[in-house]
Formats: sequence, C-alpha cells, structure tokens
Amino acid sequence: MAAQLIDGKQIAKNKQEEIAKEVQELKSRNIIPGLAVILVGNNPASRTYVKSKEKACLQLGMHSVLIEFPATICEDELLAKIVELNEDHSIHGILVQLPLPNHINEKKVIETIIPEKDVDGFHPINIGRMMTGQDSFLPCTPYGVMVMLEEMNISISGKHVVVVGRSNIVGKPSGQLFLNENATVTYCHSKTTDLKAITKQADILIAAVGKVDLITADHIKEGAVVIDVGMNRNKEGKLCGDVSFDEVKEKAGYITPVPGGVGPMTITMLMYNTLKSAKNVKPTIQNSI
Ligand code: NDP
Repeated sequence: MAAQLIDGKQIAKNKQEEIAKEVQELKSRNIIPGLAVILVGNNPASRTYVKSKEKACLQLGMHSVLIEFPATICEDELLAKIVELNEDHSIHGILVQLPLPNHINEKKVIETIIPEKDVDGFHPINIGRMMTGQDSFLPCTPYGVMVMLEEMNISISGKHVVVVGRSNIVGKPSGQLFLNENATVTYCHSKTTDLKAITKQADILIAAVGKVDLITADHIKEGAVVIDVGMNRNKEGKLCGDVSFDEVKEKAGYITPVPGGVGPMTITMLMYNTLKSAKNVKPTIQNSI
C-alpha cells in the first residue's frame, strides 16, 4: 500500500495563518515582530532563500529588513552591523545567511548575535538550552520536522529514530529533539559502515545528507515514517531530496515530498521564532501605550 503523504506545504500554511493572527494581536499592542536578514555575497541559492524569508515576513505582517554586503566585506564590519542590530528595538530576530565567504569566521558571526535574537537557533547558548531541554530557539529545519509529525499525530516516544547526517544545523539537532521526545536515536554519517542495515531498523527515518537517491526502498522497513530533508538538483535540474521518492513511497507508511515537504516548514518555524522573540519583549512606556 502506498504511503500517506505528509503535506508540508499545507501544514506550513495552517501554521502561518496562526502566526499571522498572533502578529495582528501583537500589533494591537504596538509591537511589530521584526526580522533582519544579512546576505553576504552573491550566491544565487542564498539569494533565493533570503527572498523567500522576506516574502514570508511581509505576508505575515512582520517587519523585514534585508542587509546586503559584497563578498569582500571585512569581518569587523559585519560584526559591527550585528552589534547594531542587537541593540535595535525594532528587530527581534537576526539571521545571517550561510555559507559565508572563507575569510569570515562563521562561528564568531553566530556568537555575536545575542541569544535572545538568534531565531535560527545556532548560538551555542541556544544549542545548550535545547540539549538540556530548556526553553530556547530551536533550529528551524529540525523544529519544522517535529511540528509536521505532531500535526500528523505520529507518536515519537519509544520509537527508533535513525538520522542520516550529523551537521550542526540539521542532523545533530534533529536527533536531539527526538531524544527530548523519548525516542531512541541512532546517527549515521559518511563513515557509517553498512548504512542499510541501520536505516532498515528505523521506525522514523530522517534523511539529511544532500545526495540524490541515497535512500532507496532497500534502506527502509515496511511502514516506516520517512522524512526527506535533502534539497538537491537531479541530472535534469529538478529539485529533489535524498530519498528515491517513487519506490520508497510504495513501502513507507508516511513520506514527505520534495518540494513541498520540509522546506516550507523551515521558513514557517523561522517566522514562529521571530514571533516568539517579539512576544518576549517586555513592554516599555513607548510600546505599551
Ligand atoms: P552537510 O553537508 O553539512 O551535512 C551532510 C551530512 O551527511 C554530513 O553529516 C555527512 O557526514 C553526511 N553524509 C554524507 N555522505 C553520506 C553518505 N553517503 N551516507 C551517510 N551520510 C552521509 O549538509 P546539511 O546538513 O546542511 O544539509 C543536508 C541536506 O539538507 C542538504 O541537501 C541541504 O540542502 C538540505 N537542507 C534542507 C533544508 C530544508 O529546509 N529542507 C534546510 C537545510 C538543509 P560527515 O559528517 O561524516 O561528513
């Protein structure tokens, strides 16, 4: 029997409607959630992502600021801009689009954003809070995956979750969020021997690698939940994930498509985090009138 499709686009739309309502409510208290996005250089993929973040902000009634720098910008100038945004009361979230040019220290840039405005959830303080189960900004892609499963009423507690990929922004935090929800988590990566033997044990399989057709029907067990985070281009230039969708959908219980799966959720959770940051603002005489 074919898998049930997890429609990320529709789930994201529903969530965005809820966010838009809350934005209106905040606006009635003179707080407009504001997101600043910094784009360095001219990477076409980065530009596309940044534009869609800007569009989502405006659609939800949020304040959006795009700051562009040439690839030649020096690190100090970039850090100074972040410090300025840290102090700007109209900005509740700061995002620096990655990757950055090689001469800029990514770690330093992330750590300059104050944790209270780190809506990407990449700051070590937010990561530490997430790991210890405290309130924090959760990284948007893993967070989006969790929300999708929640919306589909897919239970997590006691399940064996296999995460393929261990990057700091997707793989590692995904496994941690599942662990926080009482799953048993296994990580796989490029040095894993016999990937299939492990992925076949997964009740829930997260593919976050960046390789077309890495996960085939042979990699999964009958009825598994398959979440495809990958965003790749196939030989024909078509957007696709890490999972061989057509064959895996015949064996899985649930599956996310690419496009229309995890991608729309990522942007939605960024908006959610920006709203959350704005809601944390303590009323001042000026914005409580
Ligand atoms: P990275 O390149 O940072 O990490 C890839 C991971 O995959 C690494 O941990 C690597 O292992 C592992 N890996 C590589 N080859 C294999 C293999 N043959 N078998 C098992 N593991 C392997 O990528 P990201 O985590 O940033 O992104 C992963 C994918 O998700 C990409 O396609 C990206 O475009 C997409 N993405 C999608 C988003 C969305 O919103 N849908 C958001 C962010 C990313 P090792 O650590 O050993 O090198």
